[in-house]
Amino acid sequence: MRKKSVLGIDIGGTNTAYGLCDEEGNICYETSISTREFPTAEDLVEYIYTDLAAHNLIPEIIGVGIGAPNGNFHSGTIEYAPNLMWKGIIPMAQLFERKFDLPTLLTNDANAAAIGEMVYGNARDLTHFVTITLGTGLGSGIIIDGKLIYGHDGFAGEYGHIRVIADGRKCGCGRYGCLETYASATGVVRSIKELESPNKASSRVYDIKNITAHDVFDLARTGDLFAQEIIDFTAEALGKALADFTCFSSPKAFVLFGGIAQSGPEFAVSVKEYMEKNMLIIFQNKVEIRISSLHDKNAAVLGAASLVWNERKKHA
Ligand SMILES: [Zn+2]
Repeated sequence: MRKKSVLGIDIGGTNTAYGLCDEEGNICYETSISTREFPTAEDLVEYIYTDLAAHNLIPEIIGVGIGAPNGNFHSGTIEYAPNLMWKGIIPMAQLFERKFDLPTLLTNDANAAAIGEMVYGNARDLTHFVTITLGTGLGSGIIIDGKLIYGHDGFAGEYGHIRVIADGRKCGCGRYGCLETYASATGVVRSIKELESPNKASSRVYDIKNITAHDVFDLARTGDLFAQEIIDFTAEALGKALADFTCFSSPKAFVLFGGIAQSGPEFAVSVKEYMEKNMLIIFQNKVEIRISSLHDKNAAVLGAASLVWNERKKHA
């Protein structure tokens, strides 16, 4: 008999990745499609089902886990996701449940990353930690006592929208000064555009129009002083915010996830320094900054699948 698998799906504004994962985190089938090619959510569900059926994989699936922007665990809906084409409230979990006739769980992508970290990643030894996803925005998944915190309405952990600078940068949420406008890949690019005053010691010419966060980290690594300043500024914004966040749930660690976190240990070290400098005395030198170990291992799909495996473990 073939091994049982969970279908993990990561729905993003640009791409949707999905794959079959066993309980140990091995992925036996994985692929990615362009989300924008599907005018409706139903079309996407139909496509995934047809693809898996064509590969004769449907019989081994025991459940479906979905990570999606603005995903609500309680209702299984995606609600007003600004980066998706499908507007309003989408009953995504229900659509998969009906098509596959299987239990389906859905949450937002940062929460899925946190559970993935606890089940398969760098937080397997932790029961109190917070995952911070640094991508287009900043997401957070809060684990307390081994449980993900959903809040009364399913949206807990929107830490990217804590306002860190009064009347600061305009955020996609419509307000100003949110953490994610500084500490995210988009934030890094905004910083270099906004703070553009290349250090005199730098001889580089920046292609400001097309520069990416990845470029900024590469430049910093090769000794570019202005790029280093930008990264320091980003680490400071994040480190200060994490010092404040510690007051809320006293985590043992923050696990950083996403391209910025994976750029090398220097960023995490710098975040840790700023966090400690701003930390309340009772928490000083107690909180670790870890880097996700899932990044190269199809983290989003694993995270989504881990929703189902984690739930099964609870009821085993
Ligand atoms: Zn915001």
